[in-house]
Amino acid sequence: MSLARRLLLRASRSTWLAGQLRRRAFVRRAVRRFLPGEDLADALAAAADCASRGIGSVLTQLGEQVRSPTEADAVRDHYLGVLDRIRQRSLPGQLSVKLTHLGVDADREACIARVQALAARADATGSFLWIDMEESRYTDATLEVFRQVRAGRVNVGVCLQAYLRRTPADLAALLPLRPAIRLVKGAYNEPAGVALPRKADVDASYLALAAQLLGAARNGARAVCGTHDFRLIERIRARAGELKLPPEACEFHLLYGIRTTEQRALAAAGAKVRVLISYGAAWFAWYMRRLAERPANVWFVVRSLF
Ligand SMILES: Cc1cc2nc3c(=O)[nH]c(=O)nc-3n(C[C@H](O)[C@H](O)[C@H](O)COP(=O)(O)OP(=O)(O)OC[C@H]3O[C@@H](n4cnc5c(N)ncnc54)[C@H](O)[C@@H]3O)c2cc1C
Repeated sequence: MSLARRLLLRASRSTWLAGQLRRRAFVRRAVRRFLPGEDLADALAAAADCASRGIGSVLTQLGEQVRSPTEADAVRDHYLGVLDRIRQRSLPGQLSVKLTHLGVDADREACIARVQALAARADATGSFLWIDMEESRYTDATLEVFRQVRAGRVNVGVCLQAYLRRTPADLAALLPLRPAIRLVKGAYNEPAGVALPRKADVDASYLALAAQLLGAARNGARAVCGTHDFRLIERIRARAGELKLPPEACEFHLLYGIRTTEQRALAAAGAKVRVLISYGAAWFAWYMRRLAERPANVWFVVRSLF
């Protein structure tokens, strides 16, 4: 992992820096590249724009590390309302949630109940619920919550990170469930014993895991590749073609504001594409992870100064 990436990921945990930068107009301007706005209305408008181009959406309110049960209940209630709004507007929208935003640290059982409530409302509104994967200290808890919620509902999926050394075993253990899996490379600062430090190794791991997921898609699993790496996307699409999978058997999810022209071209070429749209005021840690993914993005922040 490069020094710049490591520093940016470390900075993402600084509350002092968050307080300093969140107020600066030039940083707020730069953030708008990845965030249509802080309000749900902004995210819904972006989702409607995607829908008009044949692209689905996944909405997520920014926030993490919530420890107060009252606050976690408020997050759940907010998301219940989002599912209603998605249905009212007939949008092809889904949700993605972070378990630390729903209070997993304070009380795992209460967190499971919140996720179950969201999965039930997603079911009732014809939507789908994704569970994000956070730092590796949450992997076990996340998989356990996923299993418990998935035991009662099929409209819930979980994210797996290709950089984690444990992920091949986690995927193999989940496959008998015919699960919905969103495979990503991984966005956090992890020690080399836990995560592959070299990008080339992460890319190779991603491709191998994606091939496994595609094979499972033939048996009812839902394969989603969350990446902007078009070299990988083309190889995965070629593999899906070799397996004679229909286009809907493998989806591609990308983040709002990243490689937008290519996202649209991918959808126009017949692939099933969704854009993950984030909104909310708690964007600091999330934005630092976006900078860390491509440290050259720091220049966009500097340019926003002028
Ligand atoms: C839908 C979705 C959901 C995700 N959910 C999670 C999650 O739950 N847990 C988790 O750990 N991570 C998650 N991530 C983030 C993921 O782990 C990676 O950090 C991120 O996707 C960058 O990796 P990449 O696959 O795009 O490949 P990379 O090799 O990093 O990037 C490929 C190319 O994409 C472009 N690109 C990538 N990132 C950026 C950026 N920030 N700014 C500008 N251009 C960029 C560049 O052109 C780059 O060359 C998610 C990503 C997506 C797309």
